[in-house]
Amino acid sequence: MQRIEHILPWSSPGTERRLSVFRFGSGPCKAYIQASLHADELPGMRVAVELKRRLRELEAQGRLSGMIELVPVANPIGLAQVFQATHQGRFEFASGNNFNRDFFDLAEAIAPALNGCLGDDGPVNVRLIRAAMQAALESLPPATSELQGLQQLLLKHACDADVVLDLHCDFEAVVHLYALPQHWPQLRPLAARLAAGAVLTAEESGGSSFDESCSLPWLRLARCFPEANIPLACLATTVELGGMADTDKPQAEARAEGILAFLAEQGLIAGDWPPAPQACCEATPFEGAEYAYAPHAGVVSFLQPVGARVKAGDPLFEVIDPLDDRHSTVCASTDGVLYVRERMRFAQPGLWLAKVAGRTPIRQGRLLSD
Ligand SMILES: [Zn+2]
Repeated sequence: MQRIEHILPWSSPGTERRLSVFRFGSGPCKAYIQASLHADELPGMRVAVELKRRLRELEAQGRLSGMIELVPVANPIGLAQVFQATHQGRFEFASGNNFNRDFFDLAEAIAPALNGCLGDDGPVNVRLIRAAMQAALESLPPATSELQGLQQLLLKHACDADVVLDLHCDFEAVVHLYALPQHWPQLRPLAARLAAGAVLTAEESGGSSFDESCSLPWLRLARCFPEANIPLACLATTVELGGMADTDKPQAEARAEGILAFLAEQGLIAGDWPPAPQACCEATPFEGAEYAYAPHAGVVSFLQPVGARVKAGDPLFEVIDPLDDRHSTVCASTDGVLYVRERMRFAQPGLWLAKVAGRTPIRQGRLLSD
């Protein structure tokens, strides 16, 4: 195991923040796994603890056939953002920006330089494109903020990987994945091993999240250069490992084993691994995900557990104004799986309270909320 340390720019004088990357194994394939980019989403960090322990063992046994980079603390800035006993790990205090938005657009940066360079040899194209991505990131001007510096470092480590797993969680949730629809067949075994309850697919969710900043450039370049053979060479997904409180040890161990078995399937780890379960949820379009809001302020009672299969018209939650007794029941507008519930129990204007993964597209434009 090699520990690689990067010092983040723009630390306040007298302080210093570091990004630590743990590198295991070597070989032609590469996987990159990071946890807790939203720094208060800790199930991924807990799984990373298990992954680190197991990868050390597997490396000592000579079973790593590829390189695996693990970043258990992808966001040291957000991890320190505790304000009066409340952790705010999603938005940077300094700027208000979401830590998982506005990653650098690699396709736009490298497309001009690739013009005329790509042919019909897929593996050669992959090498050329990865080199161009690294060169583009190396030649960026110095970061103008600590957050930008962090994002550039994460992308540098991830952009040349074959597999990228960005470990997050939601408030109260079943395990669910976000990915490009083209990647679903390859990701299905991972979803099955993690007993995912929903998989949301979109070619572009809007917001330039980390997983899309890794996977989407290949799709864009393939469309930009239709005469060239450009595979979707970076299988990147955001894995939402359940809810904020899901850091129990047995669960973390099982999820780490599921991820390792998936990496073995991808050719990164040798040896015998249990096959992926046959049963798996279906993938549904992210455009089909309903975000349910309260019609007025009030205290919230949920009427369904996470993971419930609901029909359009089934009640999701009720909202009660305790002063004027206004009472509303909010129902699903689509058939699907109730895959996320908000953690707060007071309805706020503009904040969703429940999400239902349905099959029929009902939204368009920017699909990600902030
Ligand atoms: Zn997150």
